[in-house]
Amino acid sequence: MRLADRVQRIKPSATIAAATKARQLRAQGVDIIDFTVGEPDLDTPDFIKSAAVEALQNGFTKYTDPRGMLPLREAICHKLARDNGLTYNPDEIVVSCGAKQALYNAFQALINPGDQVLIFSPYWVSYPDMVLLCDGEPVFARTEPKMGFKPDPDQLRNLLSSRVKVLLINSPCNPTGSVWDRPLLEKVAEIVVSWRDLIVISDEVYESLVYDGKEFASIASIAPEVKERTVVVNALSKTFSMTGWRLGYAAAPKPIADAMAKVQSQSTTNPTSFVQQAAIRALLEPGFFPQEMRKLYQKRRDQMVNGLNNLDGVHCPRPEGAFYAFADFRCALQEMGLSDDIELMDHLLTKGRVATVAGSAFGAPGWLRLSFAVREELIAEGLTRLQNSLGS
Ligand code: PMP
Ligand code: GLU
Repeated sequence: MRLADRVQRIKPSATIAAATKARQLRAQGVDIIDFTVGEPDLDTPDFIKSAAVEALQNGFTKYTDPRGMLPLREAICHKLARDNGLTYNPDEIVVSCGAKQALYNAFQALINPGDQVLIFSPYWVSYPDMVLLCDGEPVFARTEPKMGFKPDPDQLRNLLSSRVKVLLINSPCNPTGSVWDRPLLEKVAEIVVSWRDLIVISDEVYESLVYDGKEFASIASIAPEVKERTVVVNALSKTFSMTGWRLGYAAAPKPIADAMAKVQSQSTTNPTSFVQQAAIRALLEPGFFPQEMRKLYQKRRDQMVNGLNNLDGVHCPRPEGAFYAFADFRCALQEMGLSDDIELMDHLLTKGRVATVAGSAFGAPGWLRLSFAVREELIAEGLTRLQNSLGS
């Protein structure tokens, strides 16, 4: 059978593959501590579930506007103004099945064959493959742990050219947890506006998970001329622990939003109708769930990062946001005589019964990503297992 070339160009999502493997081993009765998970462990709050049940009972079971129903797009505008200081009209909003589809729509709407997308590395696994699926070319700007995985504006300036169509920003970052503060965003924004046709895609899905009293800022809020060329992507997935509900959205200048809506109208049409009703409730009356999750995850971050830094040959910078510890295992690898992080990930899974994701999937060979969206006792047990299997 001859499949399309574009499929041969990409890999399956490494985070999904690692999580699926851990789940399968668990189903076979193997006791695995799973640090692969890219989702909060908490249940979706009851008030959101009730809103979905009510919507079902009230007959919200039909197609909606493919951009998302108007009251939801109004609620999203309300949220963007309240939380991010951003003013949008409902016709600049497109609601999708998760942030993933919003990103996918954005690339489909913006990338021509050969256009480059500048991605900061380490990066979330799906970005390069999504670009490749659109016949675009991912190009990478390395960020370093000693700089808090933040870009050097001069390096950024040197990497830009007329071939770069999109600059992709992900703060707080998966996998590094790096959070770009307003002064840095201002510097980046200044460079962006100096390039006539450059568009920014800002993936803000971890906005509510920023620690140590730091504040999240969206690059679109820096100045109107930056907002005019930014696609803001967000979702309810992480903020309200709703990964399985599949609800994300994009806010973009109208021509881009229109193009994204056109793409979506020829693929999935609208996100699930009764989930949209539940999303209105969550966005208009979020309550304290996001803040409580943030406090809980800050404690777990410290437990995980301190534990990792106590292991021989492991160094873990303290993430400022999101829920991943991204740790350098290169010394441990060398001491153990293993060739790479994939071998280490397999060793930890089979010998230690701890599931992690290899850093090479994020453009950082020799590193591992460990999610701390996991209960404290499981973090403690996982760290003990890591210590035992690193020595073995
Ligand atoms: N962006 C980043 C940085 C992510 O980590 C994820 C993972 N879920 C997504 C986007 C996709 O989010 P969603 O589940 O809403 O599609
Ligand atoms: N974003 C999460 C992760 O990085 C979920 C899995 C995925 O969509 O890749 O693990």
